[in-house]
Order: sequence, then C-alpha cells, then structure tokens
Amino acid sequence: MKKEKIVALVAHDNMKHDLAQWVDWNWATLLKTKLVCTGTTGKLVAKTLEERRGEDKISQLDILMLKSGPLGGDQQLGSMIAEGKVDALIFFWDPMQAQPHDVDVKALLRLATLYNVPTAINRSSADFIISSPLFTSEEYVAEVKDYKAYIERTLYLK
Ligand code: PGA
Repeated sequence: MKKEKIVALVAHDNMKHDLAQWVDWNWATLLKTKLVCTGTTGKLVAKTLEERRGEDKISQLDILMLKSGPLGGDQQLGSMIAEGKVDALIFFWDPMQAQPHDVDVKALLRLATLYNVPTAINRSSADFIISSPLFTSEEYVAEVKDYKAYIERTLYLK
C-alpha cells in the first residue's frame, strides 16, 4: 500500500452524526489521506474537516465526491474497489432501517470483502483501522485471491 491512503467514507442518514463525530475526532489523520465519499456523506465530511483545517495550515482538503448512495454512489464506489482504487472503507450502515438501495449496499460490502479491503462498519472498527500501525505503513499489501481459475473455467455451451 502506498503511503497516501485512499479512504472511502459512507454513512446512512441515521449514522451520519456518528460518522461526523468520528471524522472530527480523527481529522488530523484524515487530512493526510485522499478521501472518497458518497454525495451527502461527502458534504458533511467536507464541512467537518473544513472547520478543523484552520488548525492545520498545510493540508489540503482532498475529497472525491461520488453520487449520493441511493442514486448510484455505492455502485461507483464498488467500481473503484474493483479497480483497486480504495485502501480502506469506512461504512456506517444503518442496522435499524431498511434502505431503498439495499441491493447496492450489499453489493458494495460484497466487493469490499471480495477484494480484501479493510472495512469498518461501526465506530469501534473504524477506530481500530485508523489507529493500526498498518494504516500508515507502506509495506502492507492486502492479498487478493487469484481468481484466474474461475475466469478461465471451462463452460459447456450448446
Ligand atoms: P449518501 O449515501 O452519502 O449520499 O447519503 C449514503 C449511502 O450509500 O447510503
């Protein structure tokens, strides 16, 4: 993993307050990363970090804003994961409310699992990821399974 990490941040509406608090708590570390967010989450993250950035004269706010999750943002993020462009996913999903884009949420979590992307689904796991020495290490390479056999499998078509 390269030194500057690409960290994806997503939160469902009922979890956005939690994520904003977590971002505020970890602002100094997050300003050293490149962030990618689904639309509404991104606005909140930007606002939170903008307020803090005054305390850090050097860092630039580096946030890639995707579409809002239910409008395709989760799928855009999934596509970035499939292309190896995400180093960590912080995804505070709502365990108490069904989402209109539930299939997209599931797909995003599936791809994060498939590509072995470190994923936090709540504040404690996010704390563990961001405070891990591996988070700032350049040496760590997340191993992705070799799917060659699957891709080259023989299909018997009529
Ligand atoms: P949002 O999307 O950041 O645009 O609210 C979150 C989600 O994926 O549900």
